[in-house]
Amino acid sequence: MERFTDIERCESLEVLNYQIRACKMCRLSETRQHALVGEGNINAKIMFVALSPGTKENIQNRMFIGPSGGVFDKLIQTASINRKMIFMTNLVKCMLPKNRKPNWDEIEACNTYLKEEIAIVQPNVIVPLGYYATRTVLSKFTNDSSIQNLGFKSINGKLLKLDSIQVYPLTHPSALLYNPSFENETMQKYQQLKSFI
Ligand code: SF4
Repeated sequence: MERFTDIERCESLEVLNYQIRACKMCRLSETRQHALVGEGNINAKIMFVALSPGTKENIQNRMFIGPSGGVFDKLIQTASINRKMIFMTNLVKCMLPKNRKPNWDEIEACNTYLKEEIAIVQPNVIVPLGYYATRTVLSKFTNDSSIQNLGFKSINGKLLKLDSIQVYPLTHPSALLYNPSFENETMQKYQQLKSFI
């Protein structure tokens, strides 16, 4: 993969973020307050891909500041990781009304931005959070349908070594808000992130 200087990469990210904030490529632009851009360390070894902004994130224009954000911080702390060490972004940059599931055409429209973010940050490991982010990231990095079609549960917390990148799918923090009984199991999987730093 071609390496650019930090300044070039920061500039590329700024241009990309400008495009995201103004984007009207799908219907979600009609109901959003802010299209959220990625946040974090441009030299991060780990890039997290969450699903979409929640209500609070949509209003305040920051990633992971609602209830899921508190869970996320607690989970990454188990691996001695903090937000300054990682890059975070969303699969779909605009809020999903009433927390509905994303449509595949919305994911497809927004996927252009995710691809650019990955190309700019060039992480060693991508951590997609939940089913939709995992399916999308796998379809980008492998043509092998036997990998693409693996069920999320079977690869949650397993490191997948693909040709050009490693992918480590994990449970989305919001899932623990609804199913706190998964907390211990999820924490153990997040702890493994330590080995990627
Ligand atoms: Fe654009 Fe993505 Fe927002 Fe759709 S969800 S309007 S593609 S930024």
